[in-house]
Amino acid sequence: VSSKVAAAEKTFPVVEIFGPTIQGEGWVAGLPTYFIRFGLCDYRCSWCDSLYAVLPEEVRKNATRLTAKQIDRVLAEPLQARWITFSGGNPALHDLGPLITLLRRKRLKIAVETQGSRWTPWLKRVDHLTISPKPPSSGEIGKKQDAQVKGFMRQVAGSMSPGEASLKIVVFDRDDLAWAIETAERYGFLPFFISVGTDSLGAEPLEATAERYREVCELVATDGSAAAKRARVLPQLHVIAWGHRRGV
Ligand code: SF4
Repeated sequence: VSSKVAAAEKTFPVVEIFGPTIQGEGWVAGLPTYFIRFGLCDYRCSWCDSLYAVLPEEVRKNATRLTAKQIDRVLAEPLQARWITFSGGNPALHDLGPLITLLRRKRLKIAVETQGSRWTPWLKRVDHLTISPKPPSSGEIGKKQDAQVKGFMRQVAGSMSPGEASLKIVVFDRDDLAWAIETAERYGFLPFFISVGTDSLGAEPLEATAERYREVCELVATDGSAAAKRARVLPQLHVIAWGHRRGV
């Protein structure tokens, strides 16, 4: 009983809960969804647009500690979207199993986005898991990330079907694209999405975003590799619509 009580009282750093809005990237792109942004991350990507949910001092300032029950209560019925997306930071750092159980009662479909650095068993219970390893421009590539992603993918391959998980890699330039294609070749069992990056400060004019998208599309279309042939190249739809505004 006491461990059950402890689980019920466990709190998580919630930076924001918002929606419904439209998912801007990857497998769920274009679908209406709620978002829960959990604080804290084990990476520090150079172009991270959510540092307010990453840096411990920012998380202390911006997050409210809520139990699974309290989060569930914020999502009052009737709900206007079928999906809810756990984002961050890295949501896989938290034990969100009890929250999944509660949200399921509302018939919400659960999507999660994580960089694939830490496997946690509740991930195999979600409706869609987006694994988003970070490319060279993030400053996070290297042996450590390779080993983390490899271990993570072993778990995914052993416990999830391709429709339940996908690979999404942010690409800014040719180096990123080459790395993304190599990674997708390695994990050929997963649907592969390329998400063309945008300036995290939101200062970039839309035309520059479109130009980068065009360039990446042209490179992918003429690449000829097996991974490129199955890649879906998408812009970050939410940035086109709302820029880097928070809460949409
Ligand atoms: S993994 Fe995501 S949330 Fe964490 S630092 Fe990188 S971009 Fe930001």
